[in-house]
Amino acid sequence: MIVETEAVVLHSLIYGDTSKIVTVYSKKYGKIKVVAKGARNPKSNKFGSSLELMTHSSIVLYKKEHKDLHLLSKSEIVYPFNRMQDDSEKIFSGLALIELMNMVMHDEEENEIIFSLLVESLQTIDKSTKNGANVLLAFFVKMFQQFGFGISLESCSSCARKTAVNEFQFVQLRLSDGKFICSSCSKNQTSSGVKISGGILKTLLFLQENPVGKSVQLSISTVMRDELFATMQSYLRYHIETVRTLKSVSMLYSMK
Ligand SMILES: [Zn+2]
Repeated sequence: MIVETEAVVLHSLIYGDTSKIVTVYSKKYGKIKVVAKGARNPKSNKFGSSLELMTHSSIVLYKKEHKDLHLLSKSEIVYPFNRMQDDSEKIFSGLALIELMNMVMHDEEENEIIFSLLVESLQTIDKSTKNGANVLLAFFVKMFQQFGFGISLESCSSCARKTAVNEFQFVQLRLSDGKFICSSCSKNQTSSGVKISGGILKTLLFLQENPVGKSVQLSISTVMRDELFATMQSYLRYHIETVRTLKSVSMLYSMK
């Protein structure tokens, strides 16, 4: 069956002398693997640079039923993300996004909302002049919601005091259900949650409630950003056990 879909390139492997096996996250079919014959042939590469990592392309493939490898026949760039290489924060944030997608998404499970979120996030990083890593944090929070284990950031699950109008010194976030109890409540009850500062909580709430594009307006200190990444990765690992630490996030950690 010949099909056409938009897709973002997540990963690629050398295949044979002149070809590549490319993993993409596609709008219609979710994560799929395709063989791009001749994609590494300098004389006749009909795919141009449309199969470079992170590229948003429009692809045509011969999709084989009950197979996990399909044949790519055509690929054209929709959006190249040319400014992604401007600085290391942008490049590692973009790479972390596709690494995360490749790690957590199952094969051939379509989710158009996640696809749009991915494209919007890559576009925001590409256009940004600062705080590109915030986009990745926003992506985590919004992805959790899409997966059905979103974090309940609005209010304390015990006393119902709201995050927006209170200055919690710290809160205890329970990884199992994404609910938190505030510092006052945690004096009276034991909680096995992860302790995070009130500032981290407010930042996460901002990222969850606002469009991805707004995340880059937020100034986050490197100490706080590292804590946010650690919290997001612990939360993800609790819910999806197979997740490893993201290599590209480790690169962001070491950037000061
Ligand atoms: Zn409380």
